[in-house]
Amino acid sequence: MDFQAFHRRSIEEPEAFWAEQAKLIDWQKPFEQVRDYSRPPLVDWFVGGQTNLCHNAVDRHLKTQADAKALIWVSTEVDKEVVYSFRELHAEVQRMAAMLLELGVGKGDRVLIYMPMIAEACFAMLACARIGAIHSVVFGGFASHSLASRIDNATPKVIVSADAGSRSGKSVPYKGLLDEAIQLATHKPAKVLMVNRGLAPYTPVAGRDEDYAALRAKHMDTQVPCTWVEATHPSYTLYTSGTTGTPKGVQRDTGGYAVALAASMKHIFLGKPGETYFSTSDIGWVVGHSYIIYGPLIAGMATIMYEGLPTRPDGGIWWSLVEKYKVTSMFSAPTAVRVLKKQDPAYLKKYDLSSLRALFLAGEPLDEPTAKWIADALGRPIIDNYWQTETGWPILTICNGIEPAPSKFGSPGKAVYGYDVKLVNESTGEEMKGADEKGVVMIEGPLPPGCMQTVWQDDARFVKTYWTQANGRWLYSTFDWGIRDQDGYYFILGRTDDVINVAGHRLGTREIEESISSHPNVAEVAVVGVADNLKGQVAMAFAIPKDASGLDDPAARLKLEGEIMKVVDGQLGAVARPSRVLFVTALPKTRSGKLLRRALQAVAEGRDPGDLTTIEDPSALQQVKALVAAK
Ligand code: ATP
Ligand code: MG
Repeated sequence: MDFQAFHRRSIEEPEAFWAEQAKLIDWQKPFEQVRDYSRPPLVDWFVGGQTNLCHNAVDRHLKTQADAKALIWVSTEVDKEVVYSFRELHAEVQRMAAMLLELGVGKGDRVLIYMPMIAEACFAMLACARIGAIHSVVFGGFASHSLASRIDNATPKVIVSADAGSRSGKSVPYKGLLDEAIQLATHKPAKVLMVNRGLAPYTPVAGRDEDYAALRAKHMDTQVPCTWVEATHPSYTLYTSGTTGTPKGVQRDTGGYAVALAASMKHIFLGKPGETYFSTSDIGWVVGHSYIIYGPLIAGMATIMYEGLPTRPDGGIWWSLVEKYKVTSMFSAPTAVRVLKKQDPAYLKKYDLSSLRALFLAGEPLDEPTAKWIADALGRPIIDNYWQTETGWPILTICNGIEPAPSKFGSPGKAVYGYDVKLVNESTGEEMKGADEKGVVMIEGPLPPGCMQTVWQDDARFVKTYWTQANGRWLYSTFDWGIRDQDGYYFILGRTDDVINVAGHRLGTREIEESISSHPNVAEVAVVGVADNLKGQVAMAFAIPKDASGLDDPAARLKLEGEIMKVVDGQLGAVARPSRVLFVTALPKTRSGKLLRRALQAVAEGRDPGDLTTIEDPSALQQVKALVAAK
């Protein structure tokens, strides 16, 4: 089918378009109105319809493929692999749902899930959906302070957790952090349901903590029918990564989300029932929600849930799973590819990857060297896709399921159906219609199905944070800026707060980073704008050298710094030249692997880095602090 026509129809006749896509899922009660946009910019999709996410992900496949694989849980941490068929998954979800009901959870109640990548986390999410409870998954790597703020925001009746996660074969206890978080939080959950993996001893809190295995034994045969909910009933809340500020509580609906995911599995991720999907993300992130749990299962696919590192027992582990389970679509992030890049490339040639149609990557800019490396190494198509926690599914990509089209290096692709993407001039608010003009990436309201409904319990914050109104039209800001070429391909240039203003010249940090990266001895680099009395701002670069030998010598460091500056001068001009290039061994990143640029900038300016609840390795910031102080 002609993609342009498909996209145009989604924008010009959205009701007809989405009514058609809505046939991809089961409805208990058909909707009366495709969309209600009478309270802009808020929108309700599939008004009057009733459905259930768990029904669409699990129950409806029982008729056609009860014994097909549904959940493939692989842990290289505890050396276990368990495959659940749809029938078995259905039974486990009902048991979990029965436990939650017994603990007093009802429709609309929140359940916070603070768990490692174990099958029970998937059961818990689906069980909540089954009974109309709203889940709020908090990434298992967060410590008590981050967890406490999310407990207070979501006010859960029940928390589902586990004794411990595991990293690199060592147990990472959760229970102590959870107890501490509950102590810190103002809101107190009535019950905590504990999965005991036997990884870390803990003391249950009497009257509050319940043992999963003991409760499960009581409910081996309990049947819990799906609670049919309104299409607009919230299915979950989830916090953004916190890359640019305090995480925002994104609230998602049920019907619109199910339709959007079903459509994306078909048109974008090329998924078919009976096939296998492997997303290497974590259930704590939006990719985990949409493309480990709900999307693949709604599509009737088996989904791999992987607990472990990409490099343990060796750099071939992911590819061995692709071979073993005949994975057809795989989803990962550039940050993970960069980790693999440091491994022996022979691992990529060792396994039969012929089942794999494509590797999808998202979450951060996919730089050309990384994209080229993985494309060459795998010999399969690499498909970048750009979206946000807020949208729940891709805004920009190549929809190969509609019409196969080439990718362009550095571009996630074209505007996806349903999204009326605009590039808007930041200062004038004018739309940039020409090719290669920079603007803020915005989406004209209403947002398509599956996107955030609102900020949890705070419509005013939702409207104020994301929306602007011009000439009676509402525009949603992604807070990213980009350009579009003459073929309609977009290029993301960075976040709107990543612009550096050097003596009146506006420069994207990403452009400078790409230039610096082209120096052969730069493995990774981050550029931030630092306040400067003379120029307003100057660029400062923090680079990880590929080969750091000899760099203890200040003269060698200066020489490399000079070389890098020359590269930037040659490619972008002296105005973009960083004032300093400082060498580090690690960069501060979020737990999801994204560069924490605002923290880096704050420290480079000698300010307090602010909310660091999502940082992966605080020592990376310490290095920067020390370097800046010594400068
Ligand atoms: P916060 O909103 O809390 O600051 P965050 O924006 O990092 O955190 P996410 O929703 O996880 O939280 O990430 C979405 C952002 O990631 C996008 O707005 C964009 O900046 C970046 N991004 C995602 N995919 C891509 C991609 N394919 N290419 C470039 N950037 C991407
Ligand atoms: Mg964001």
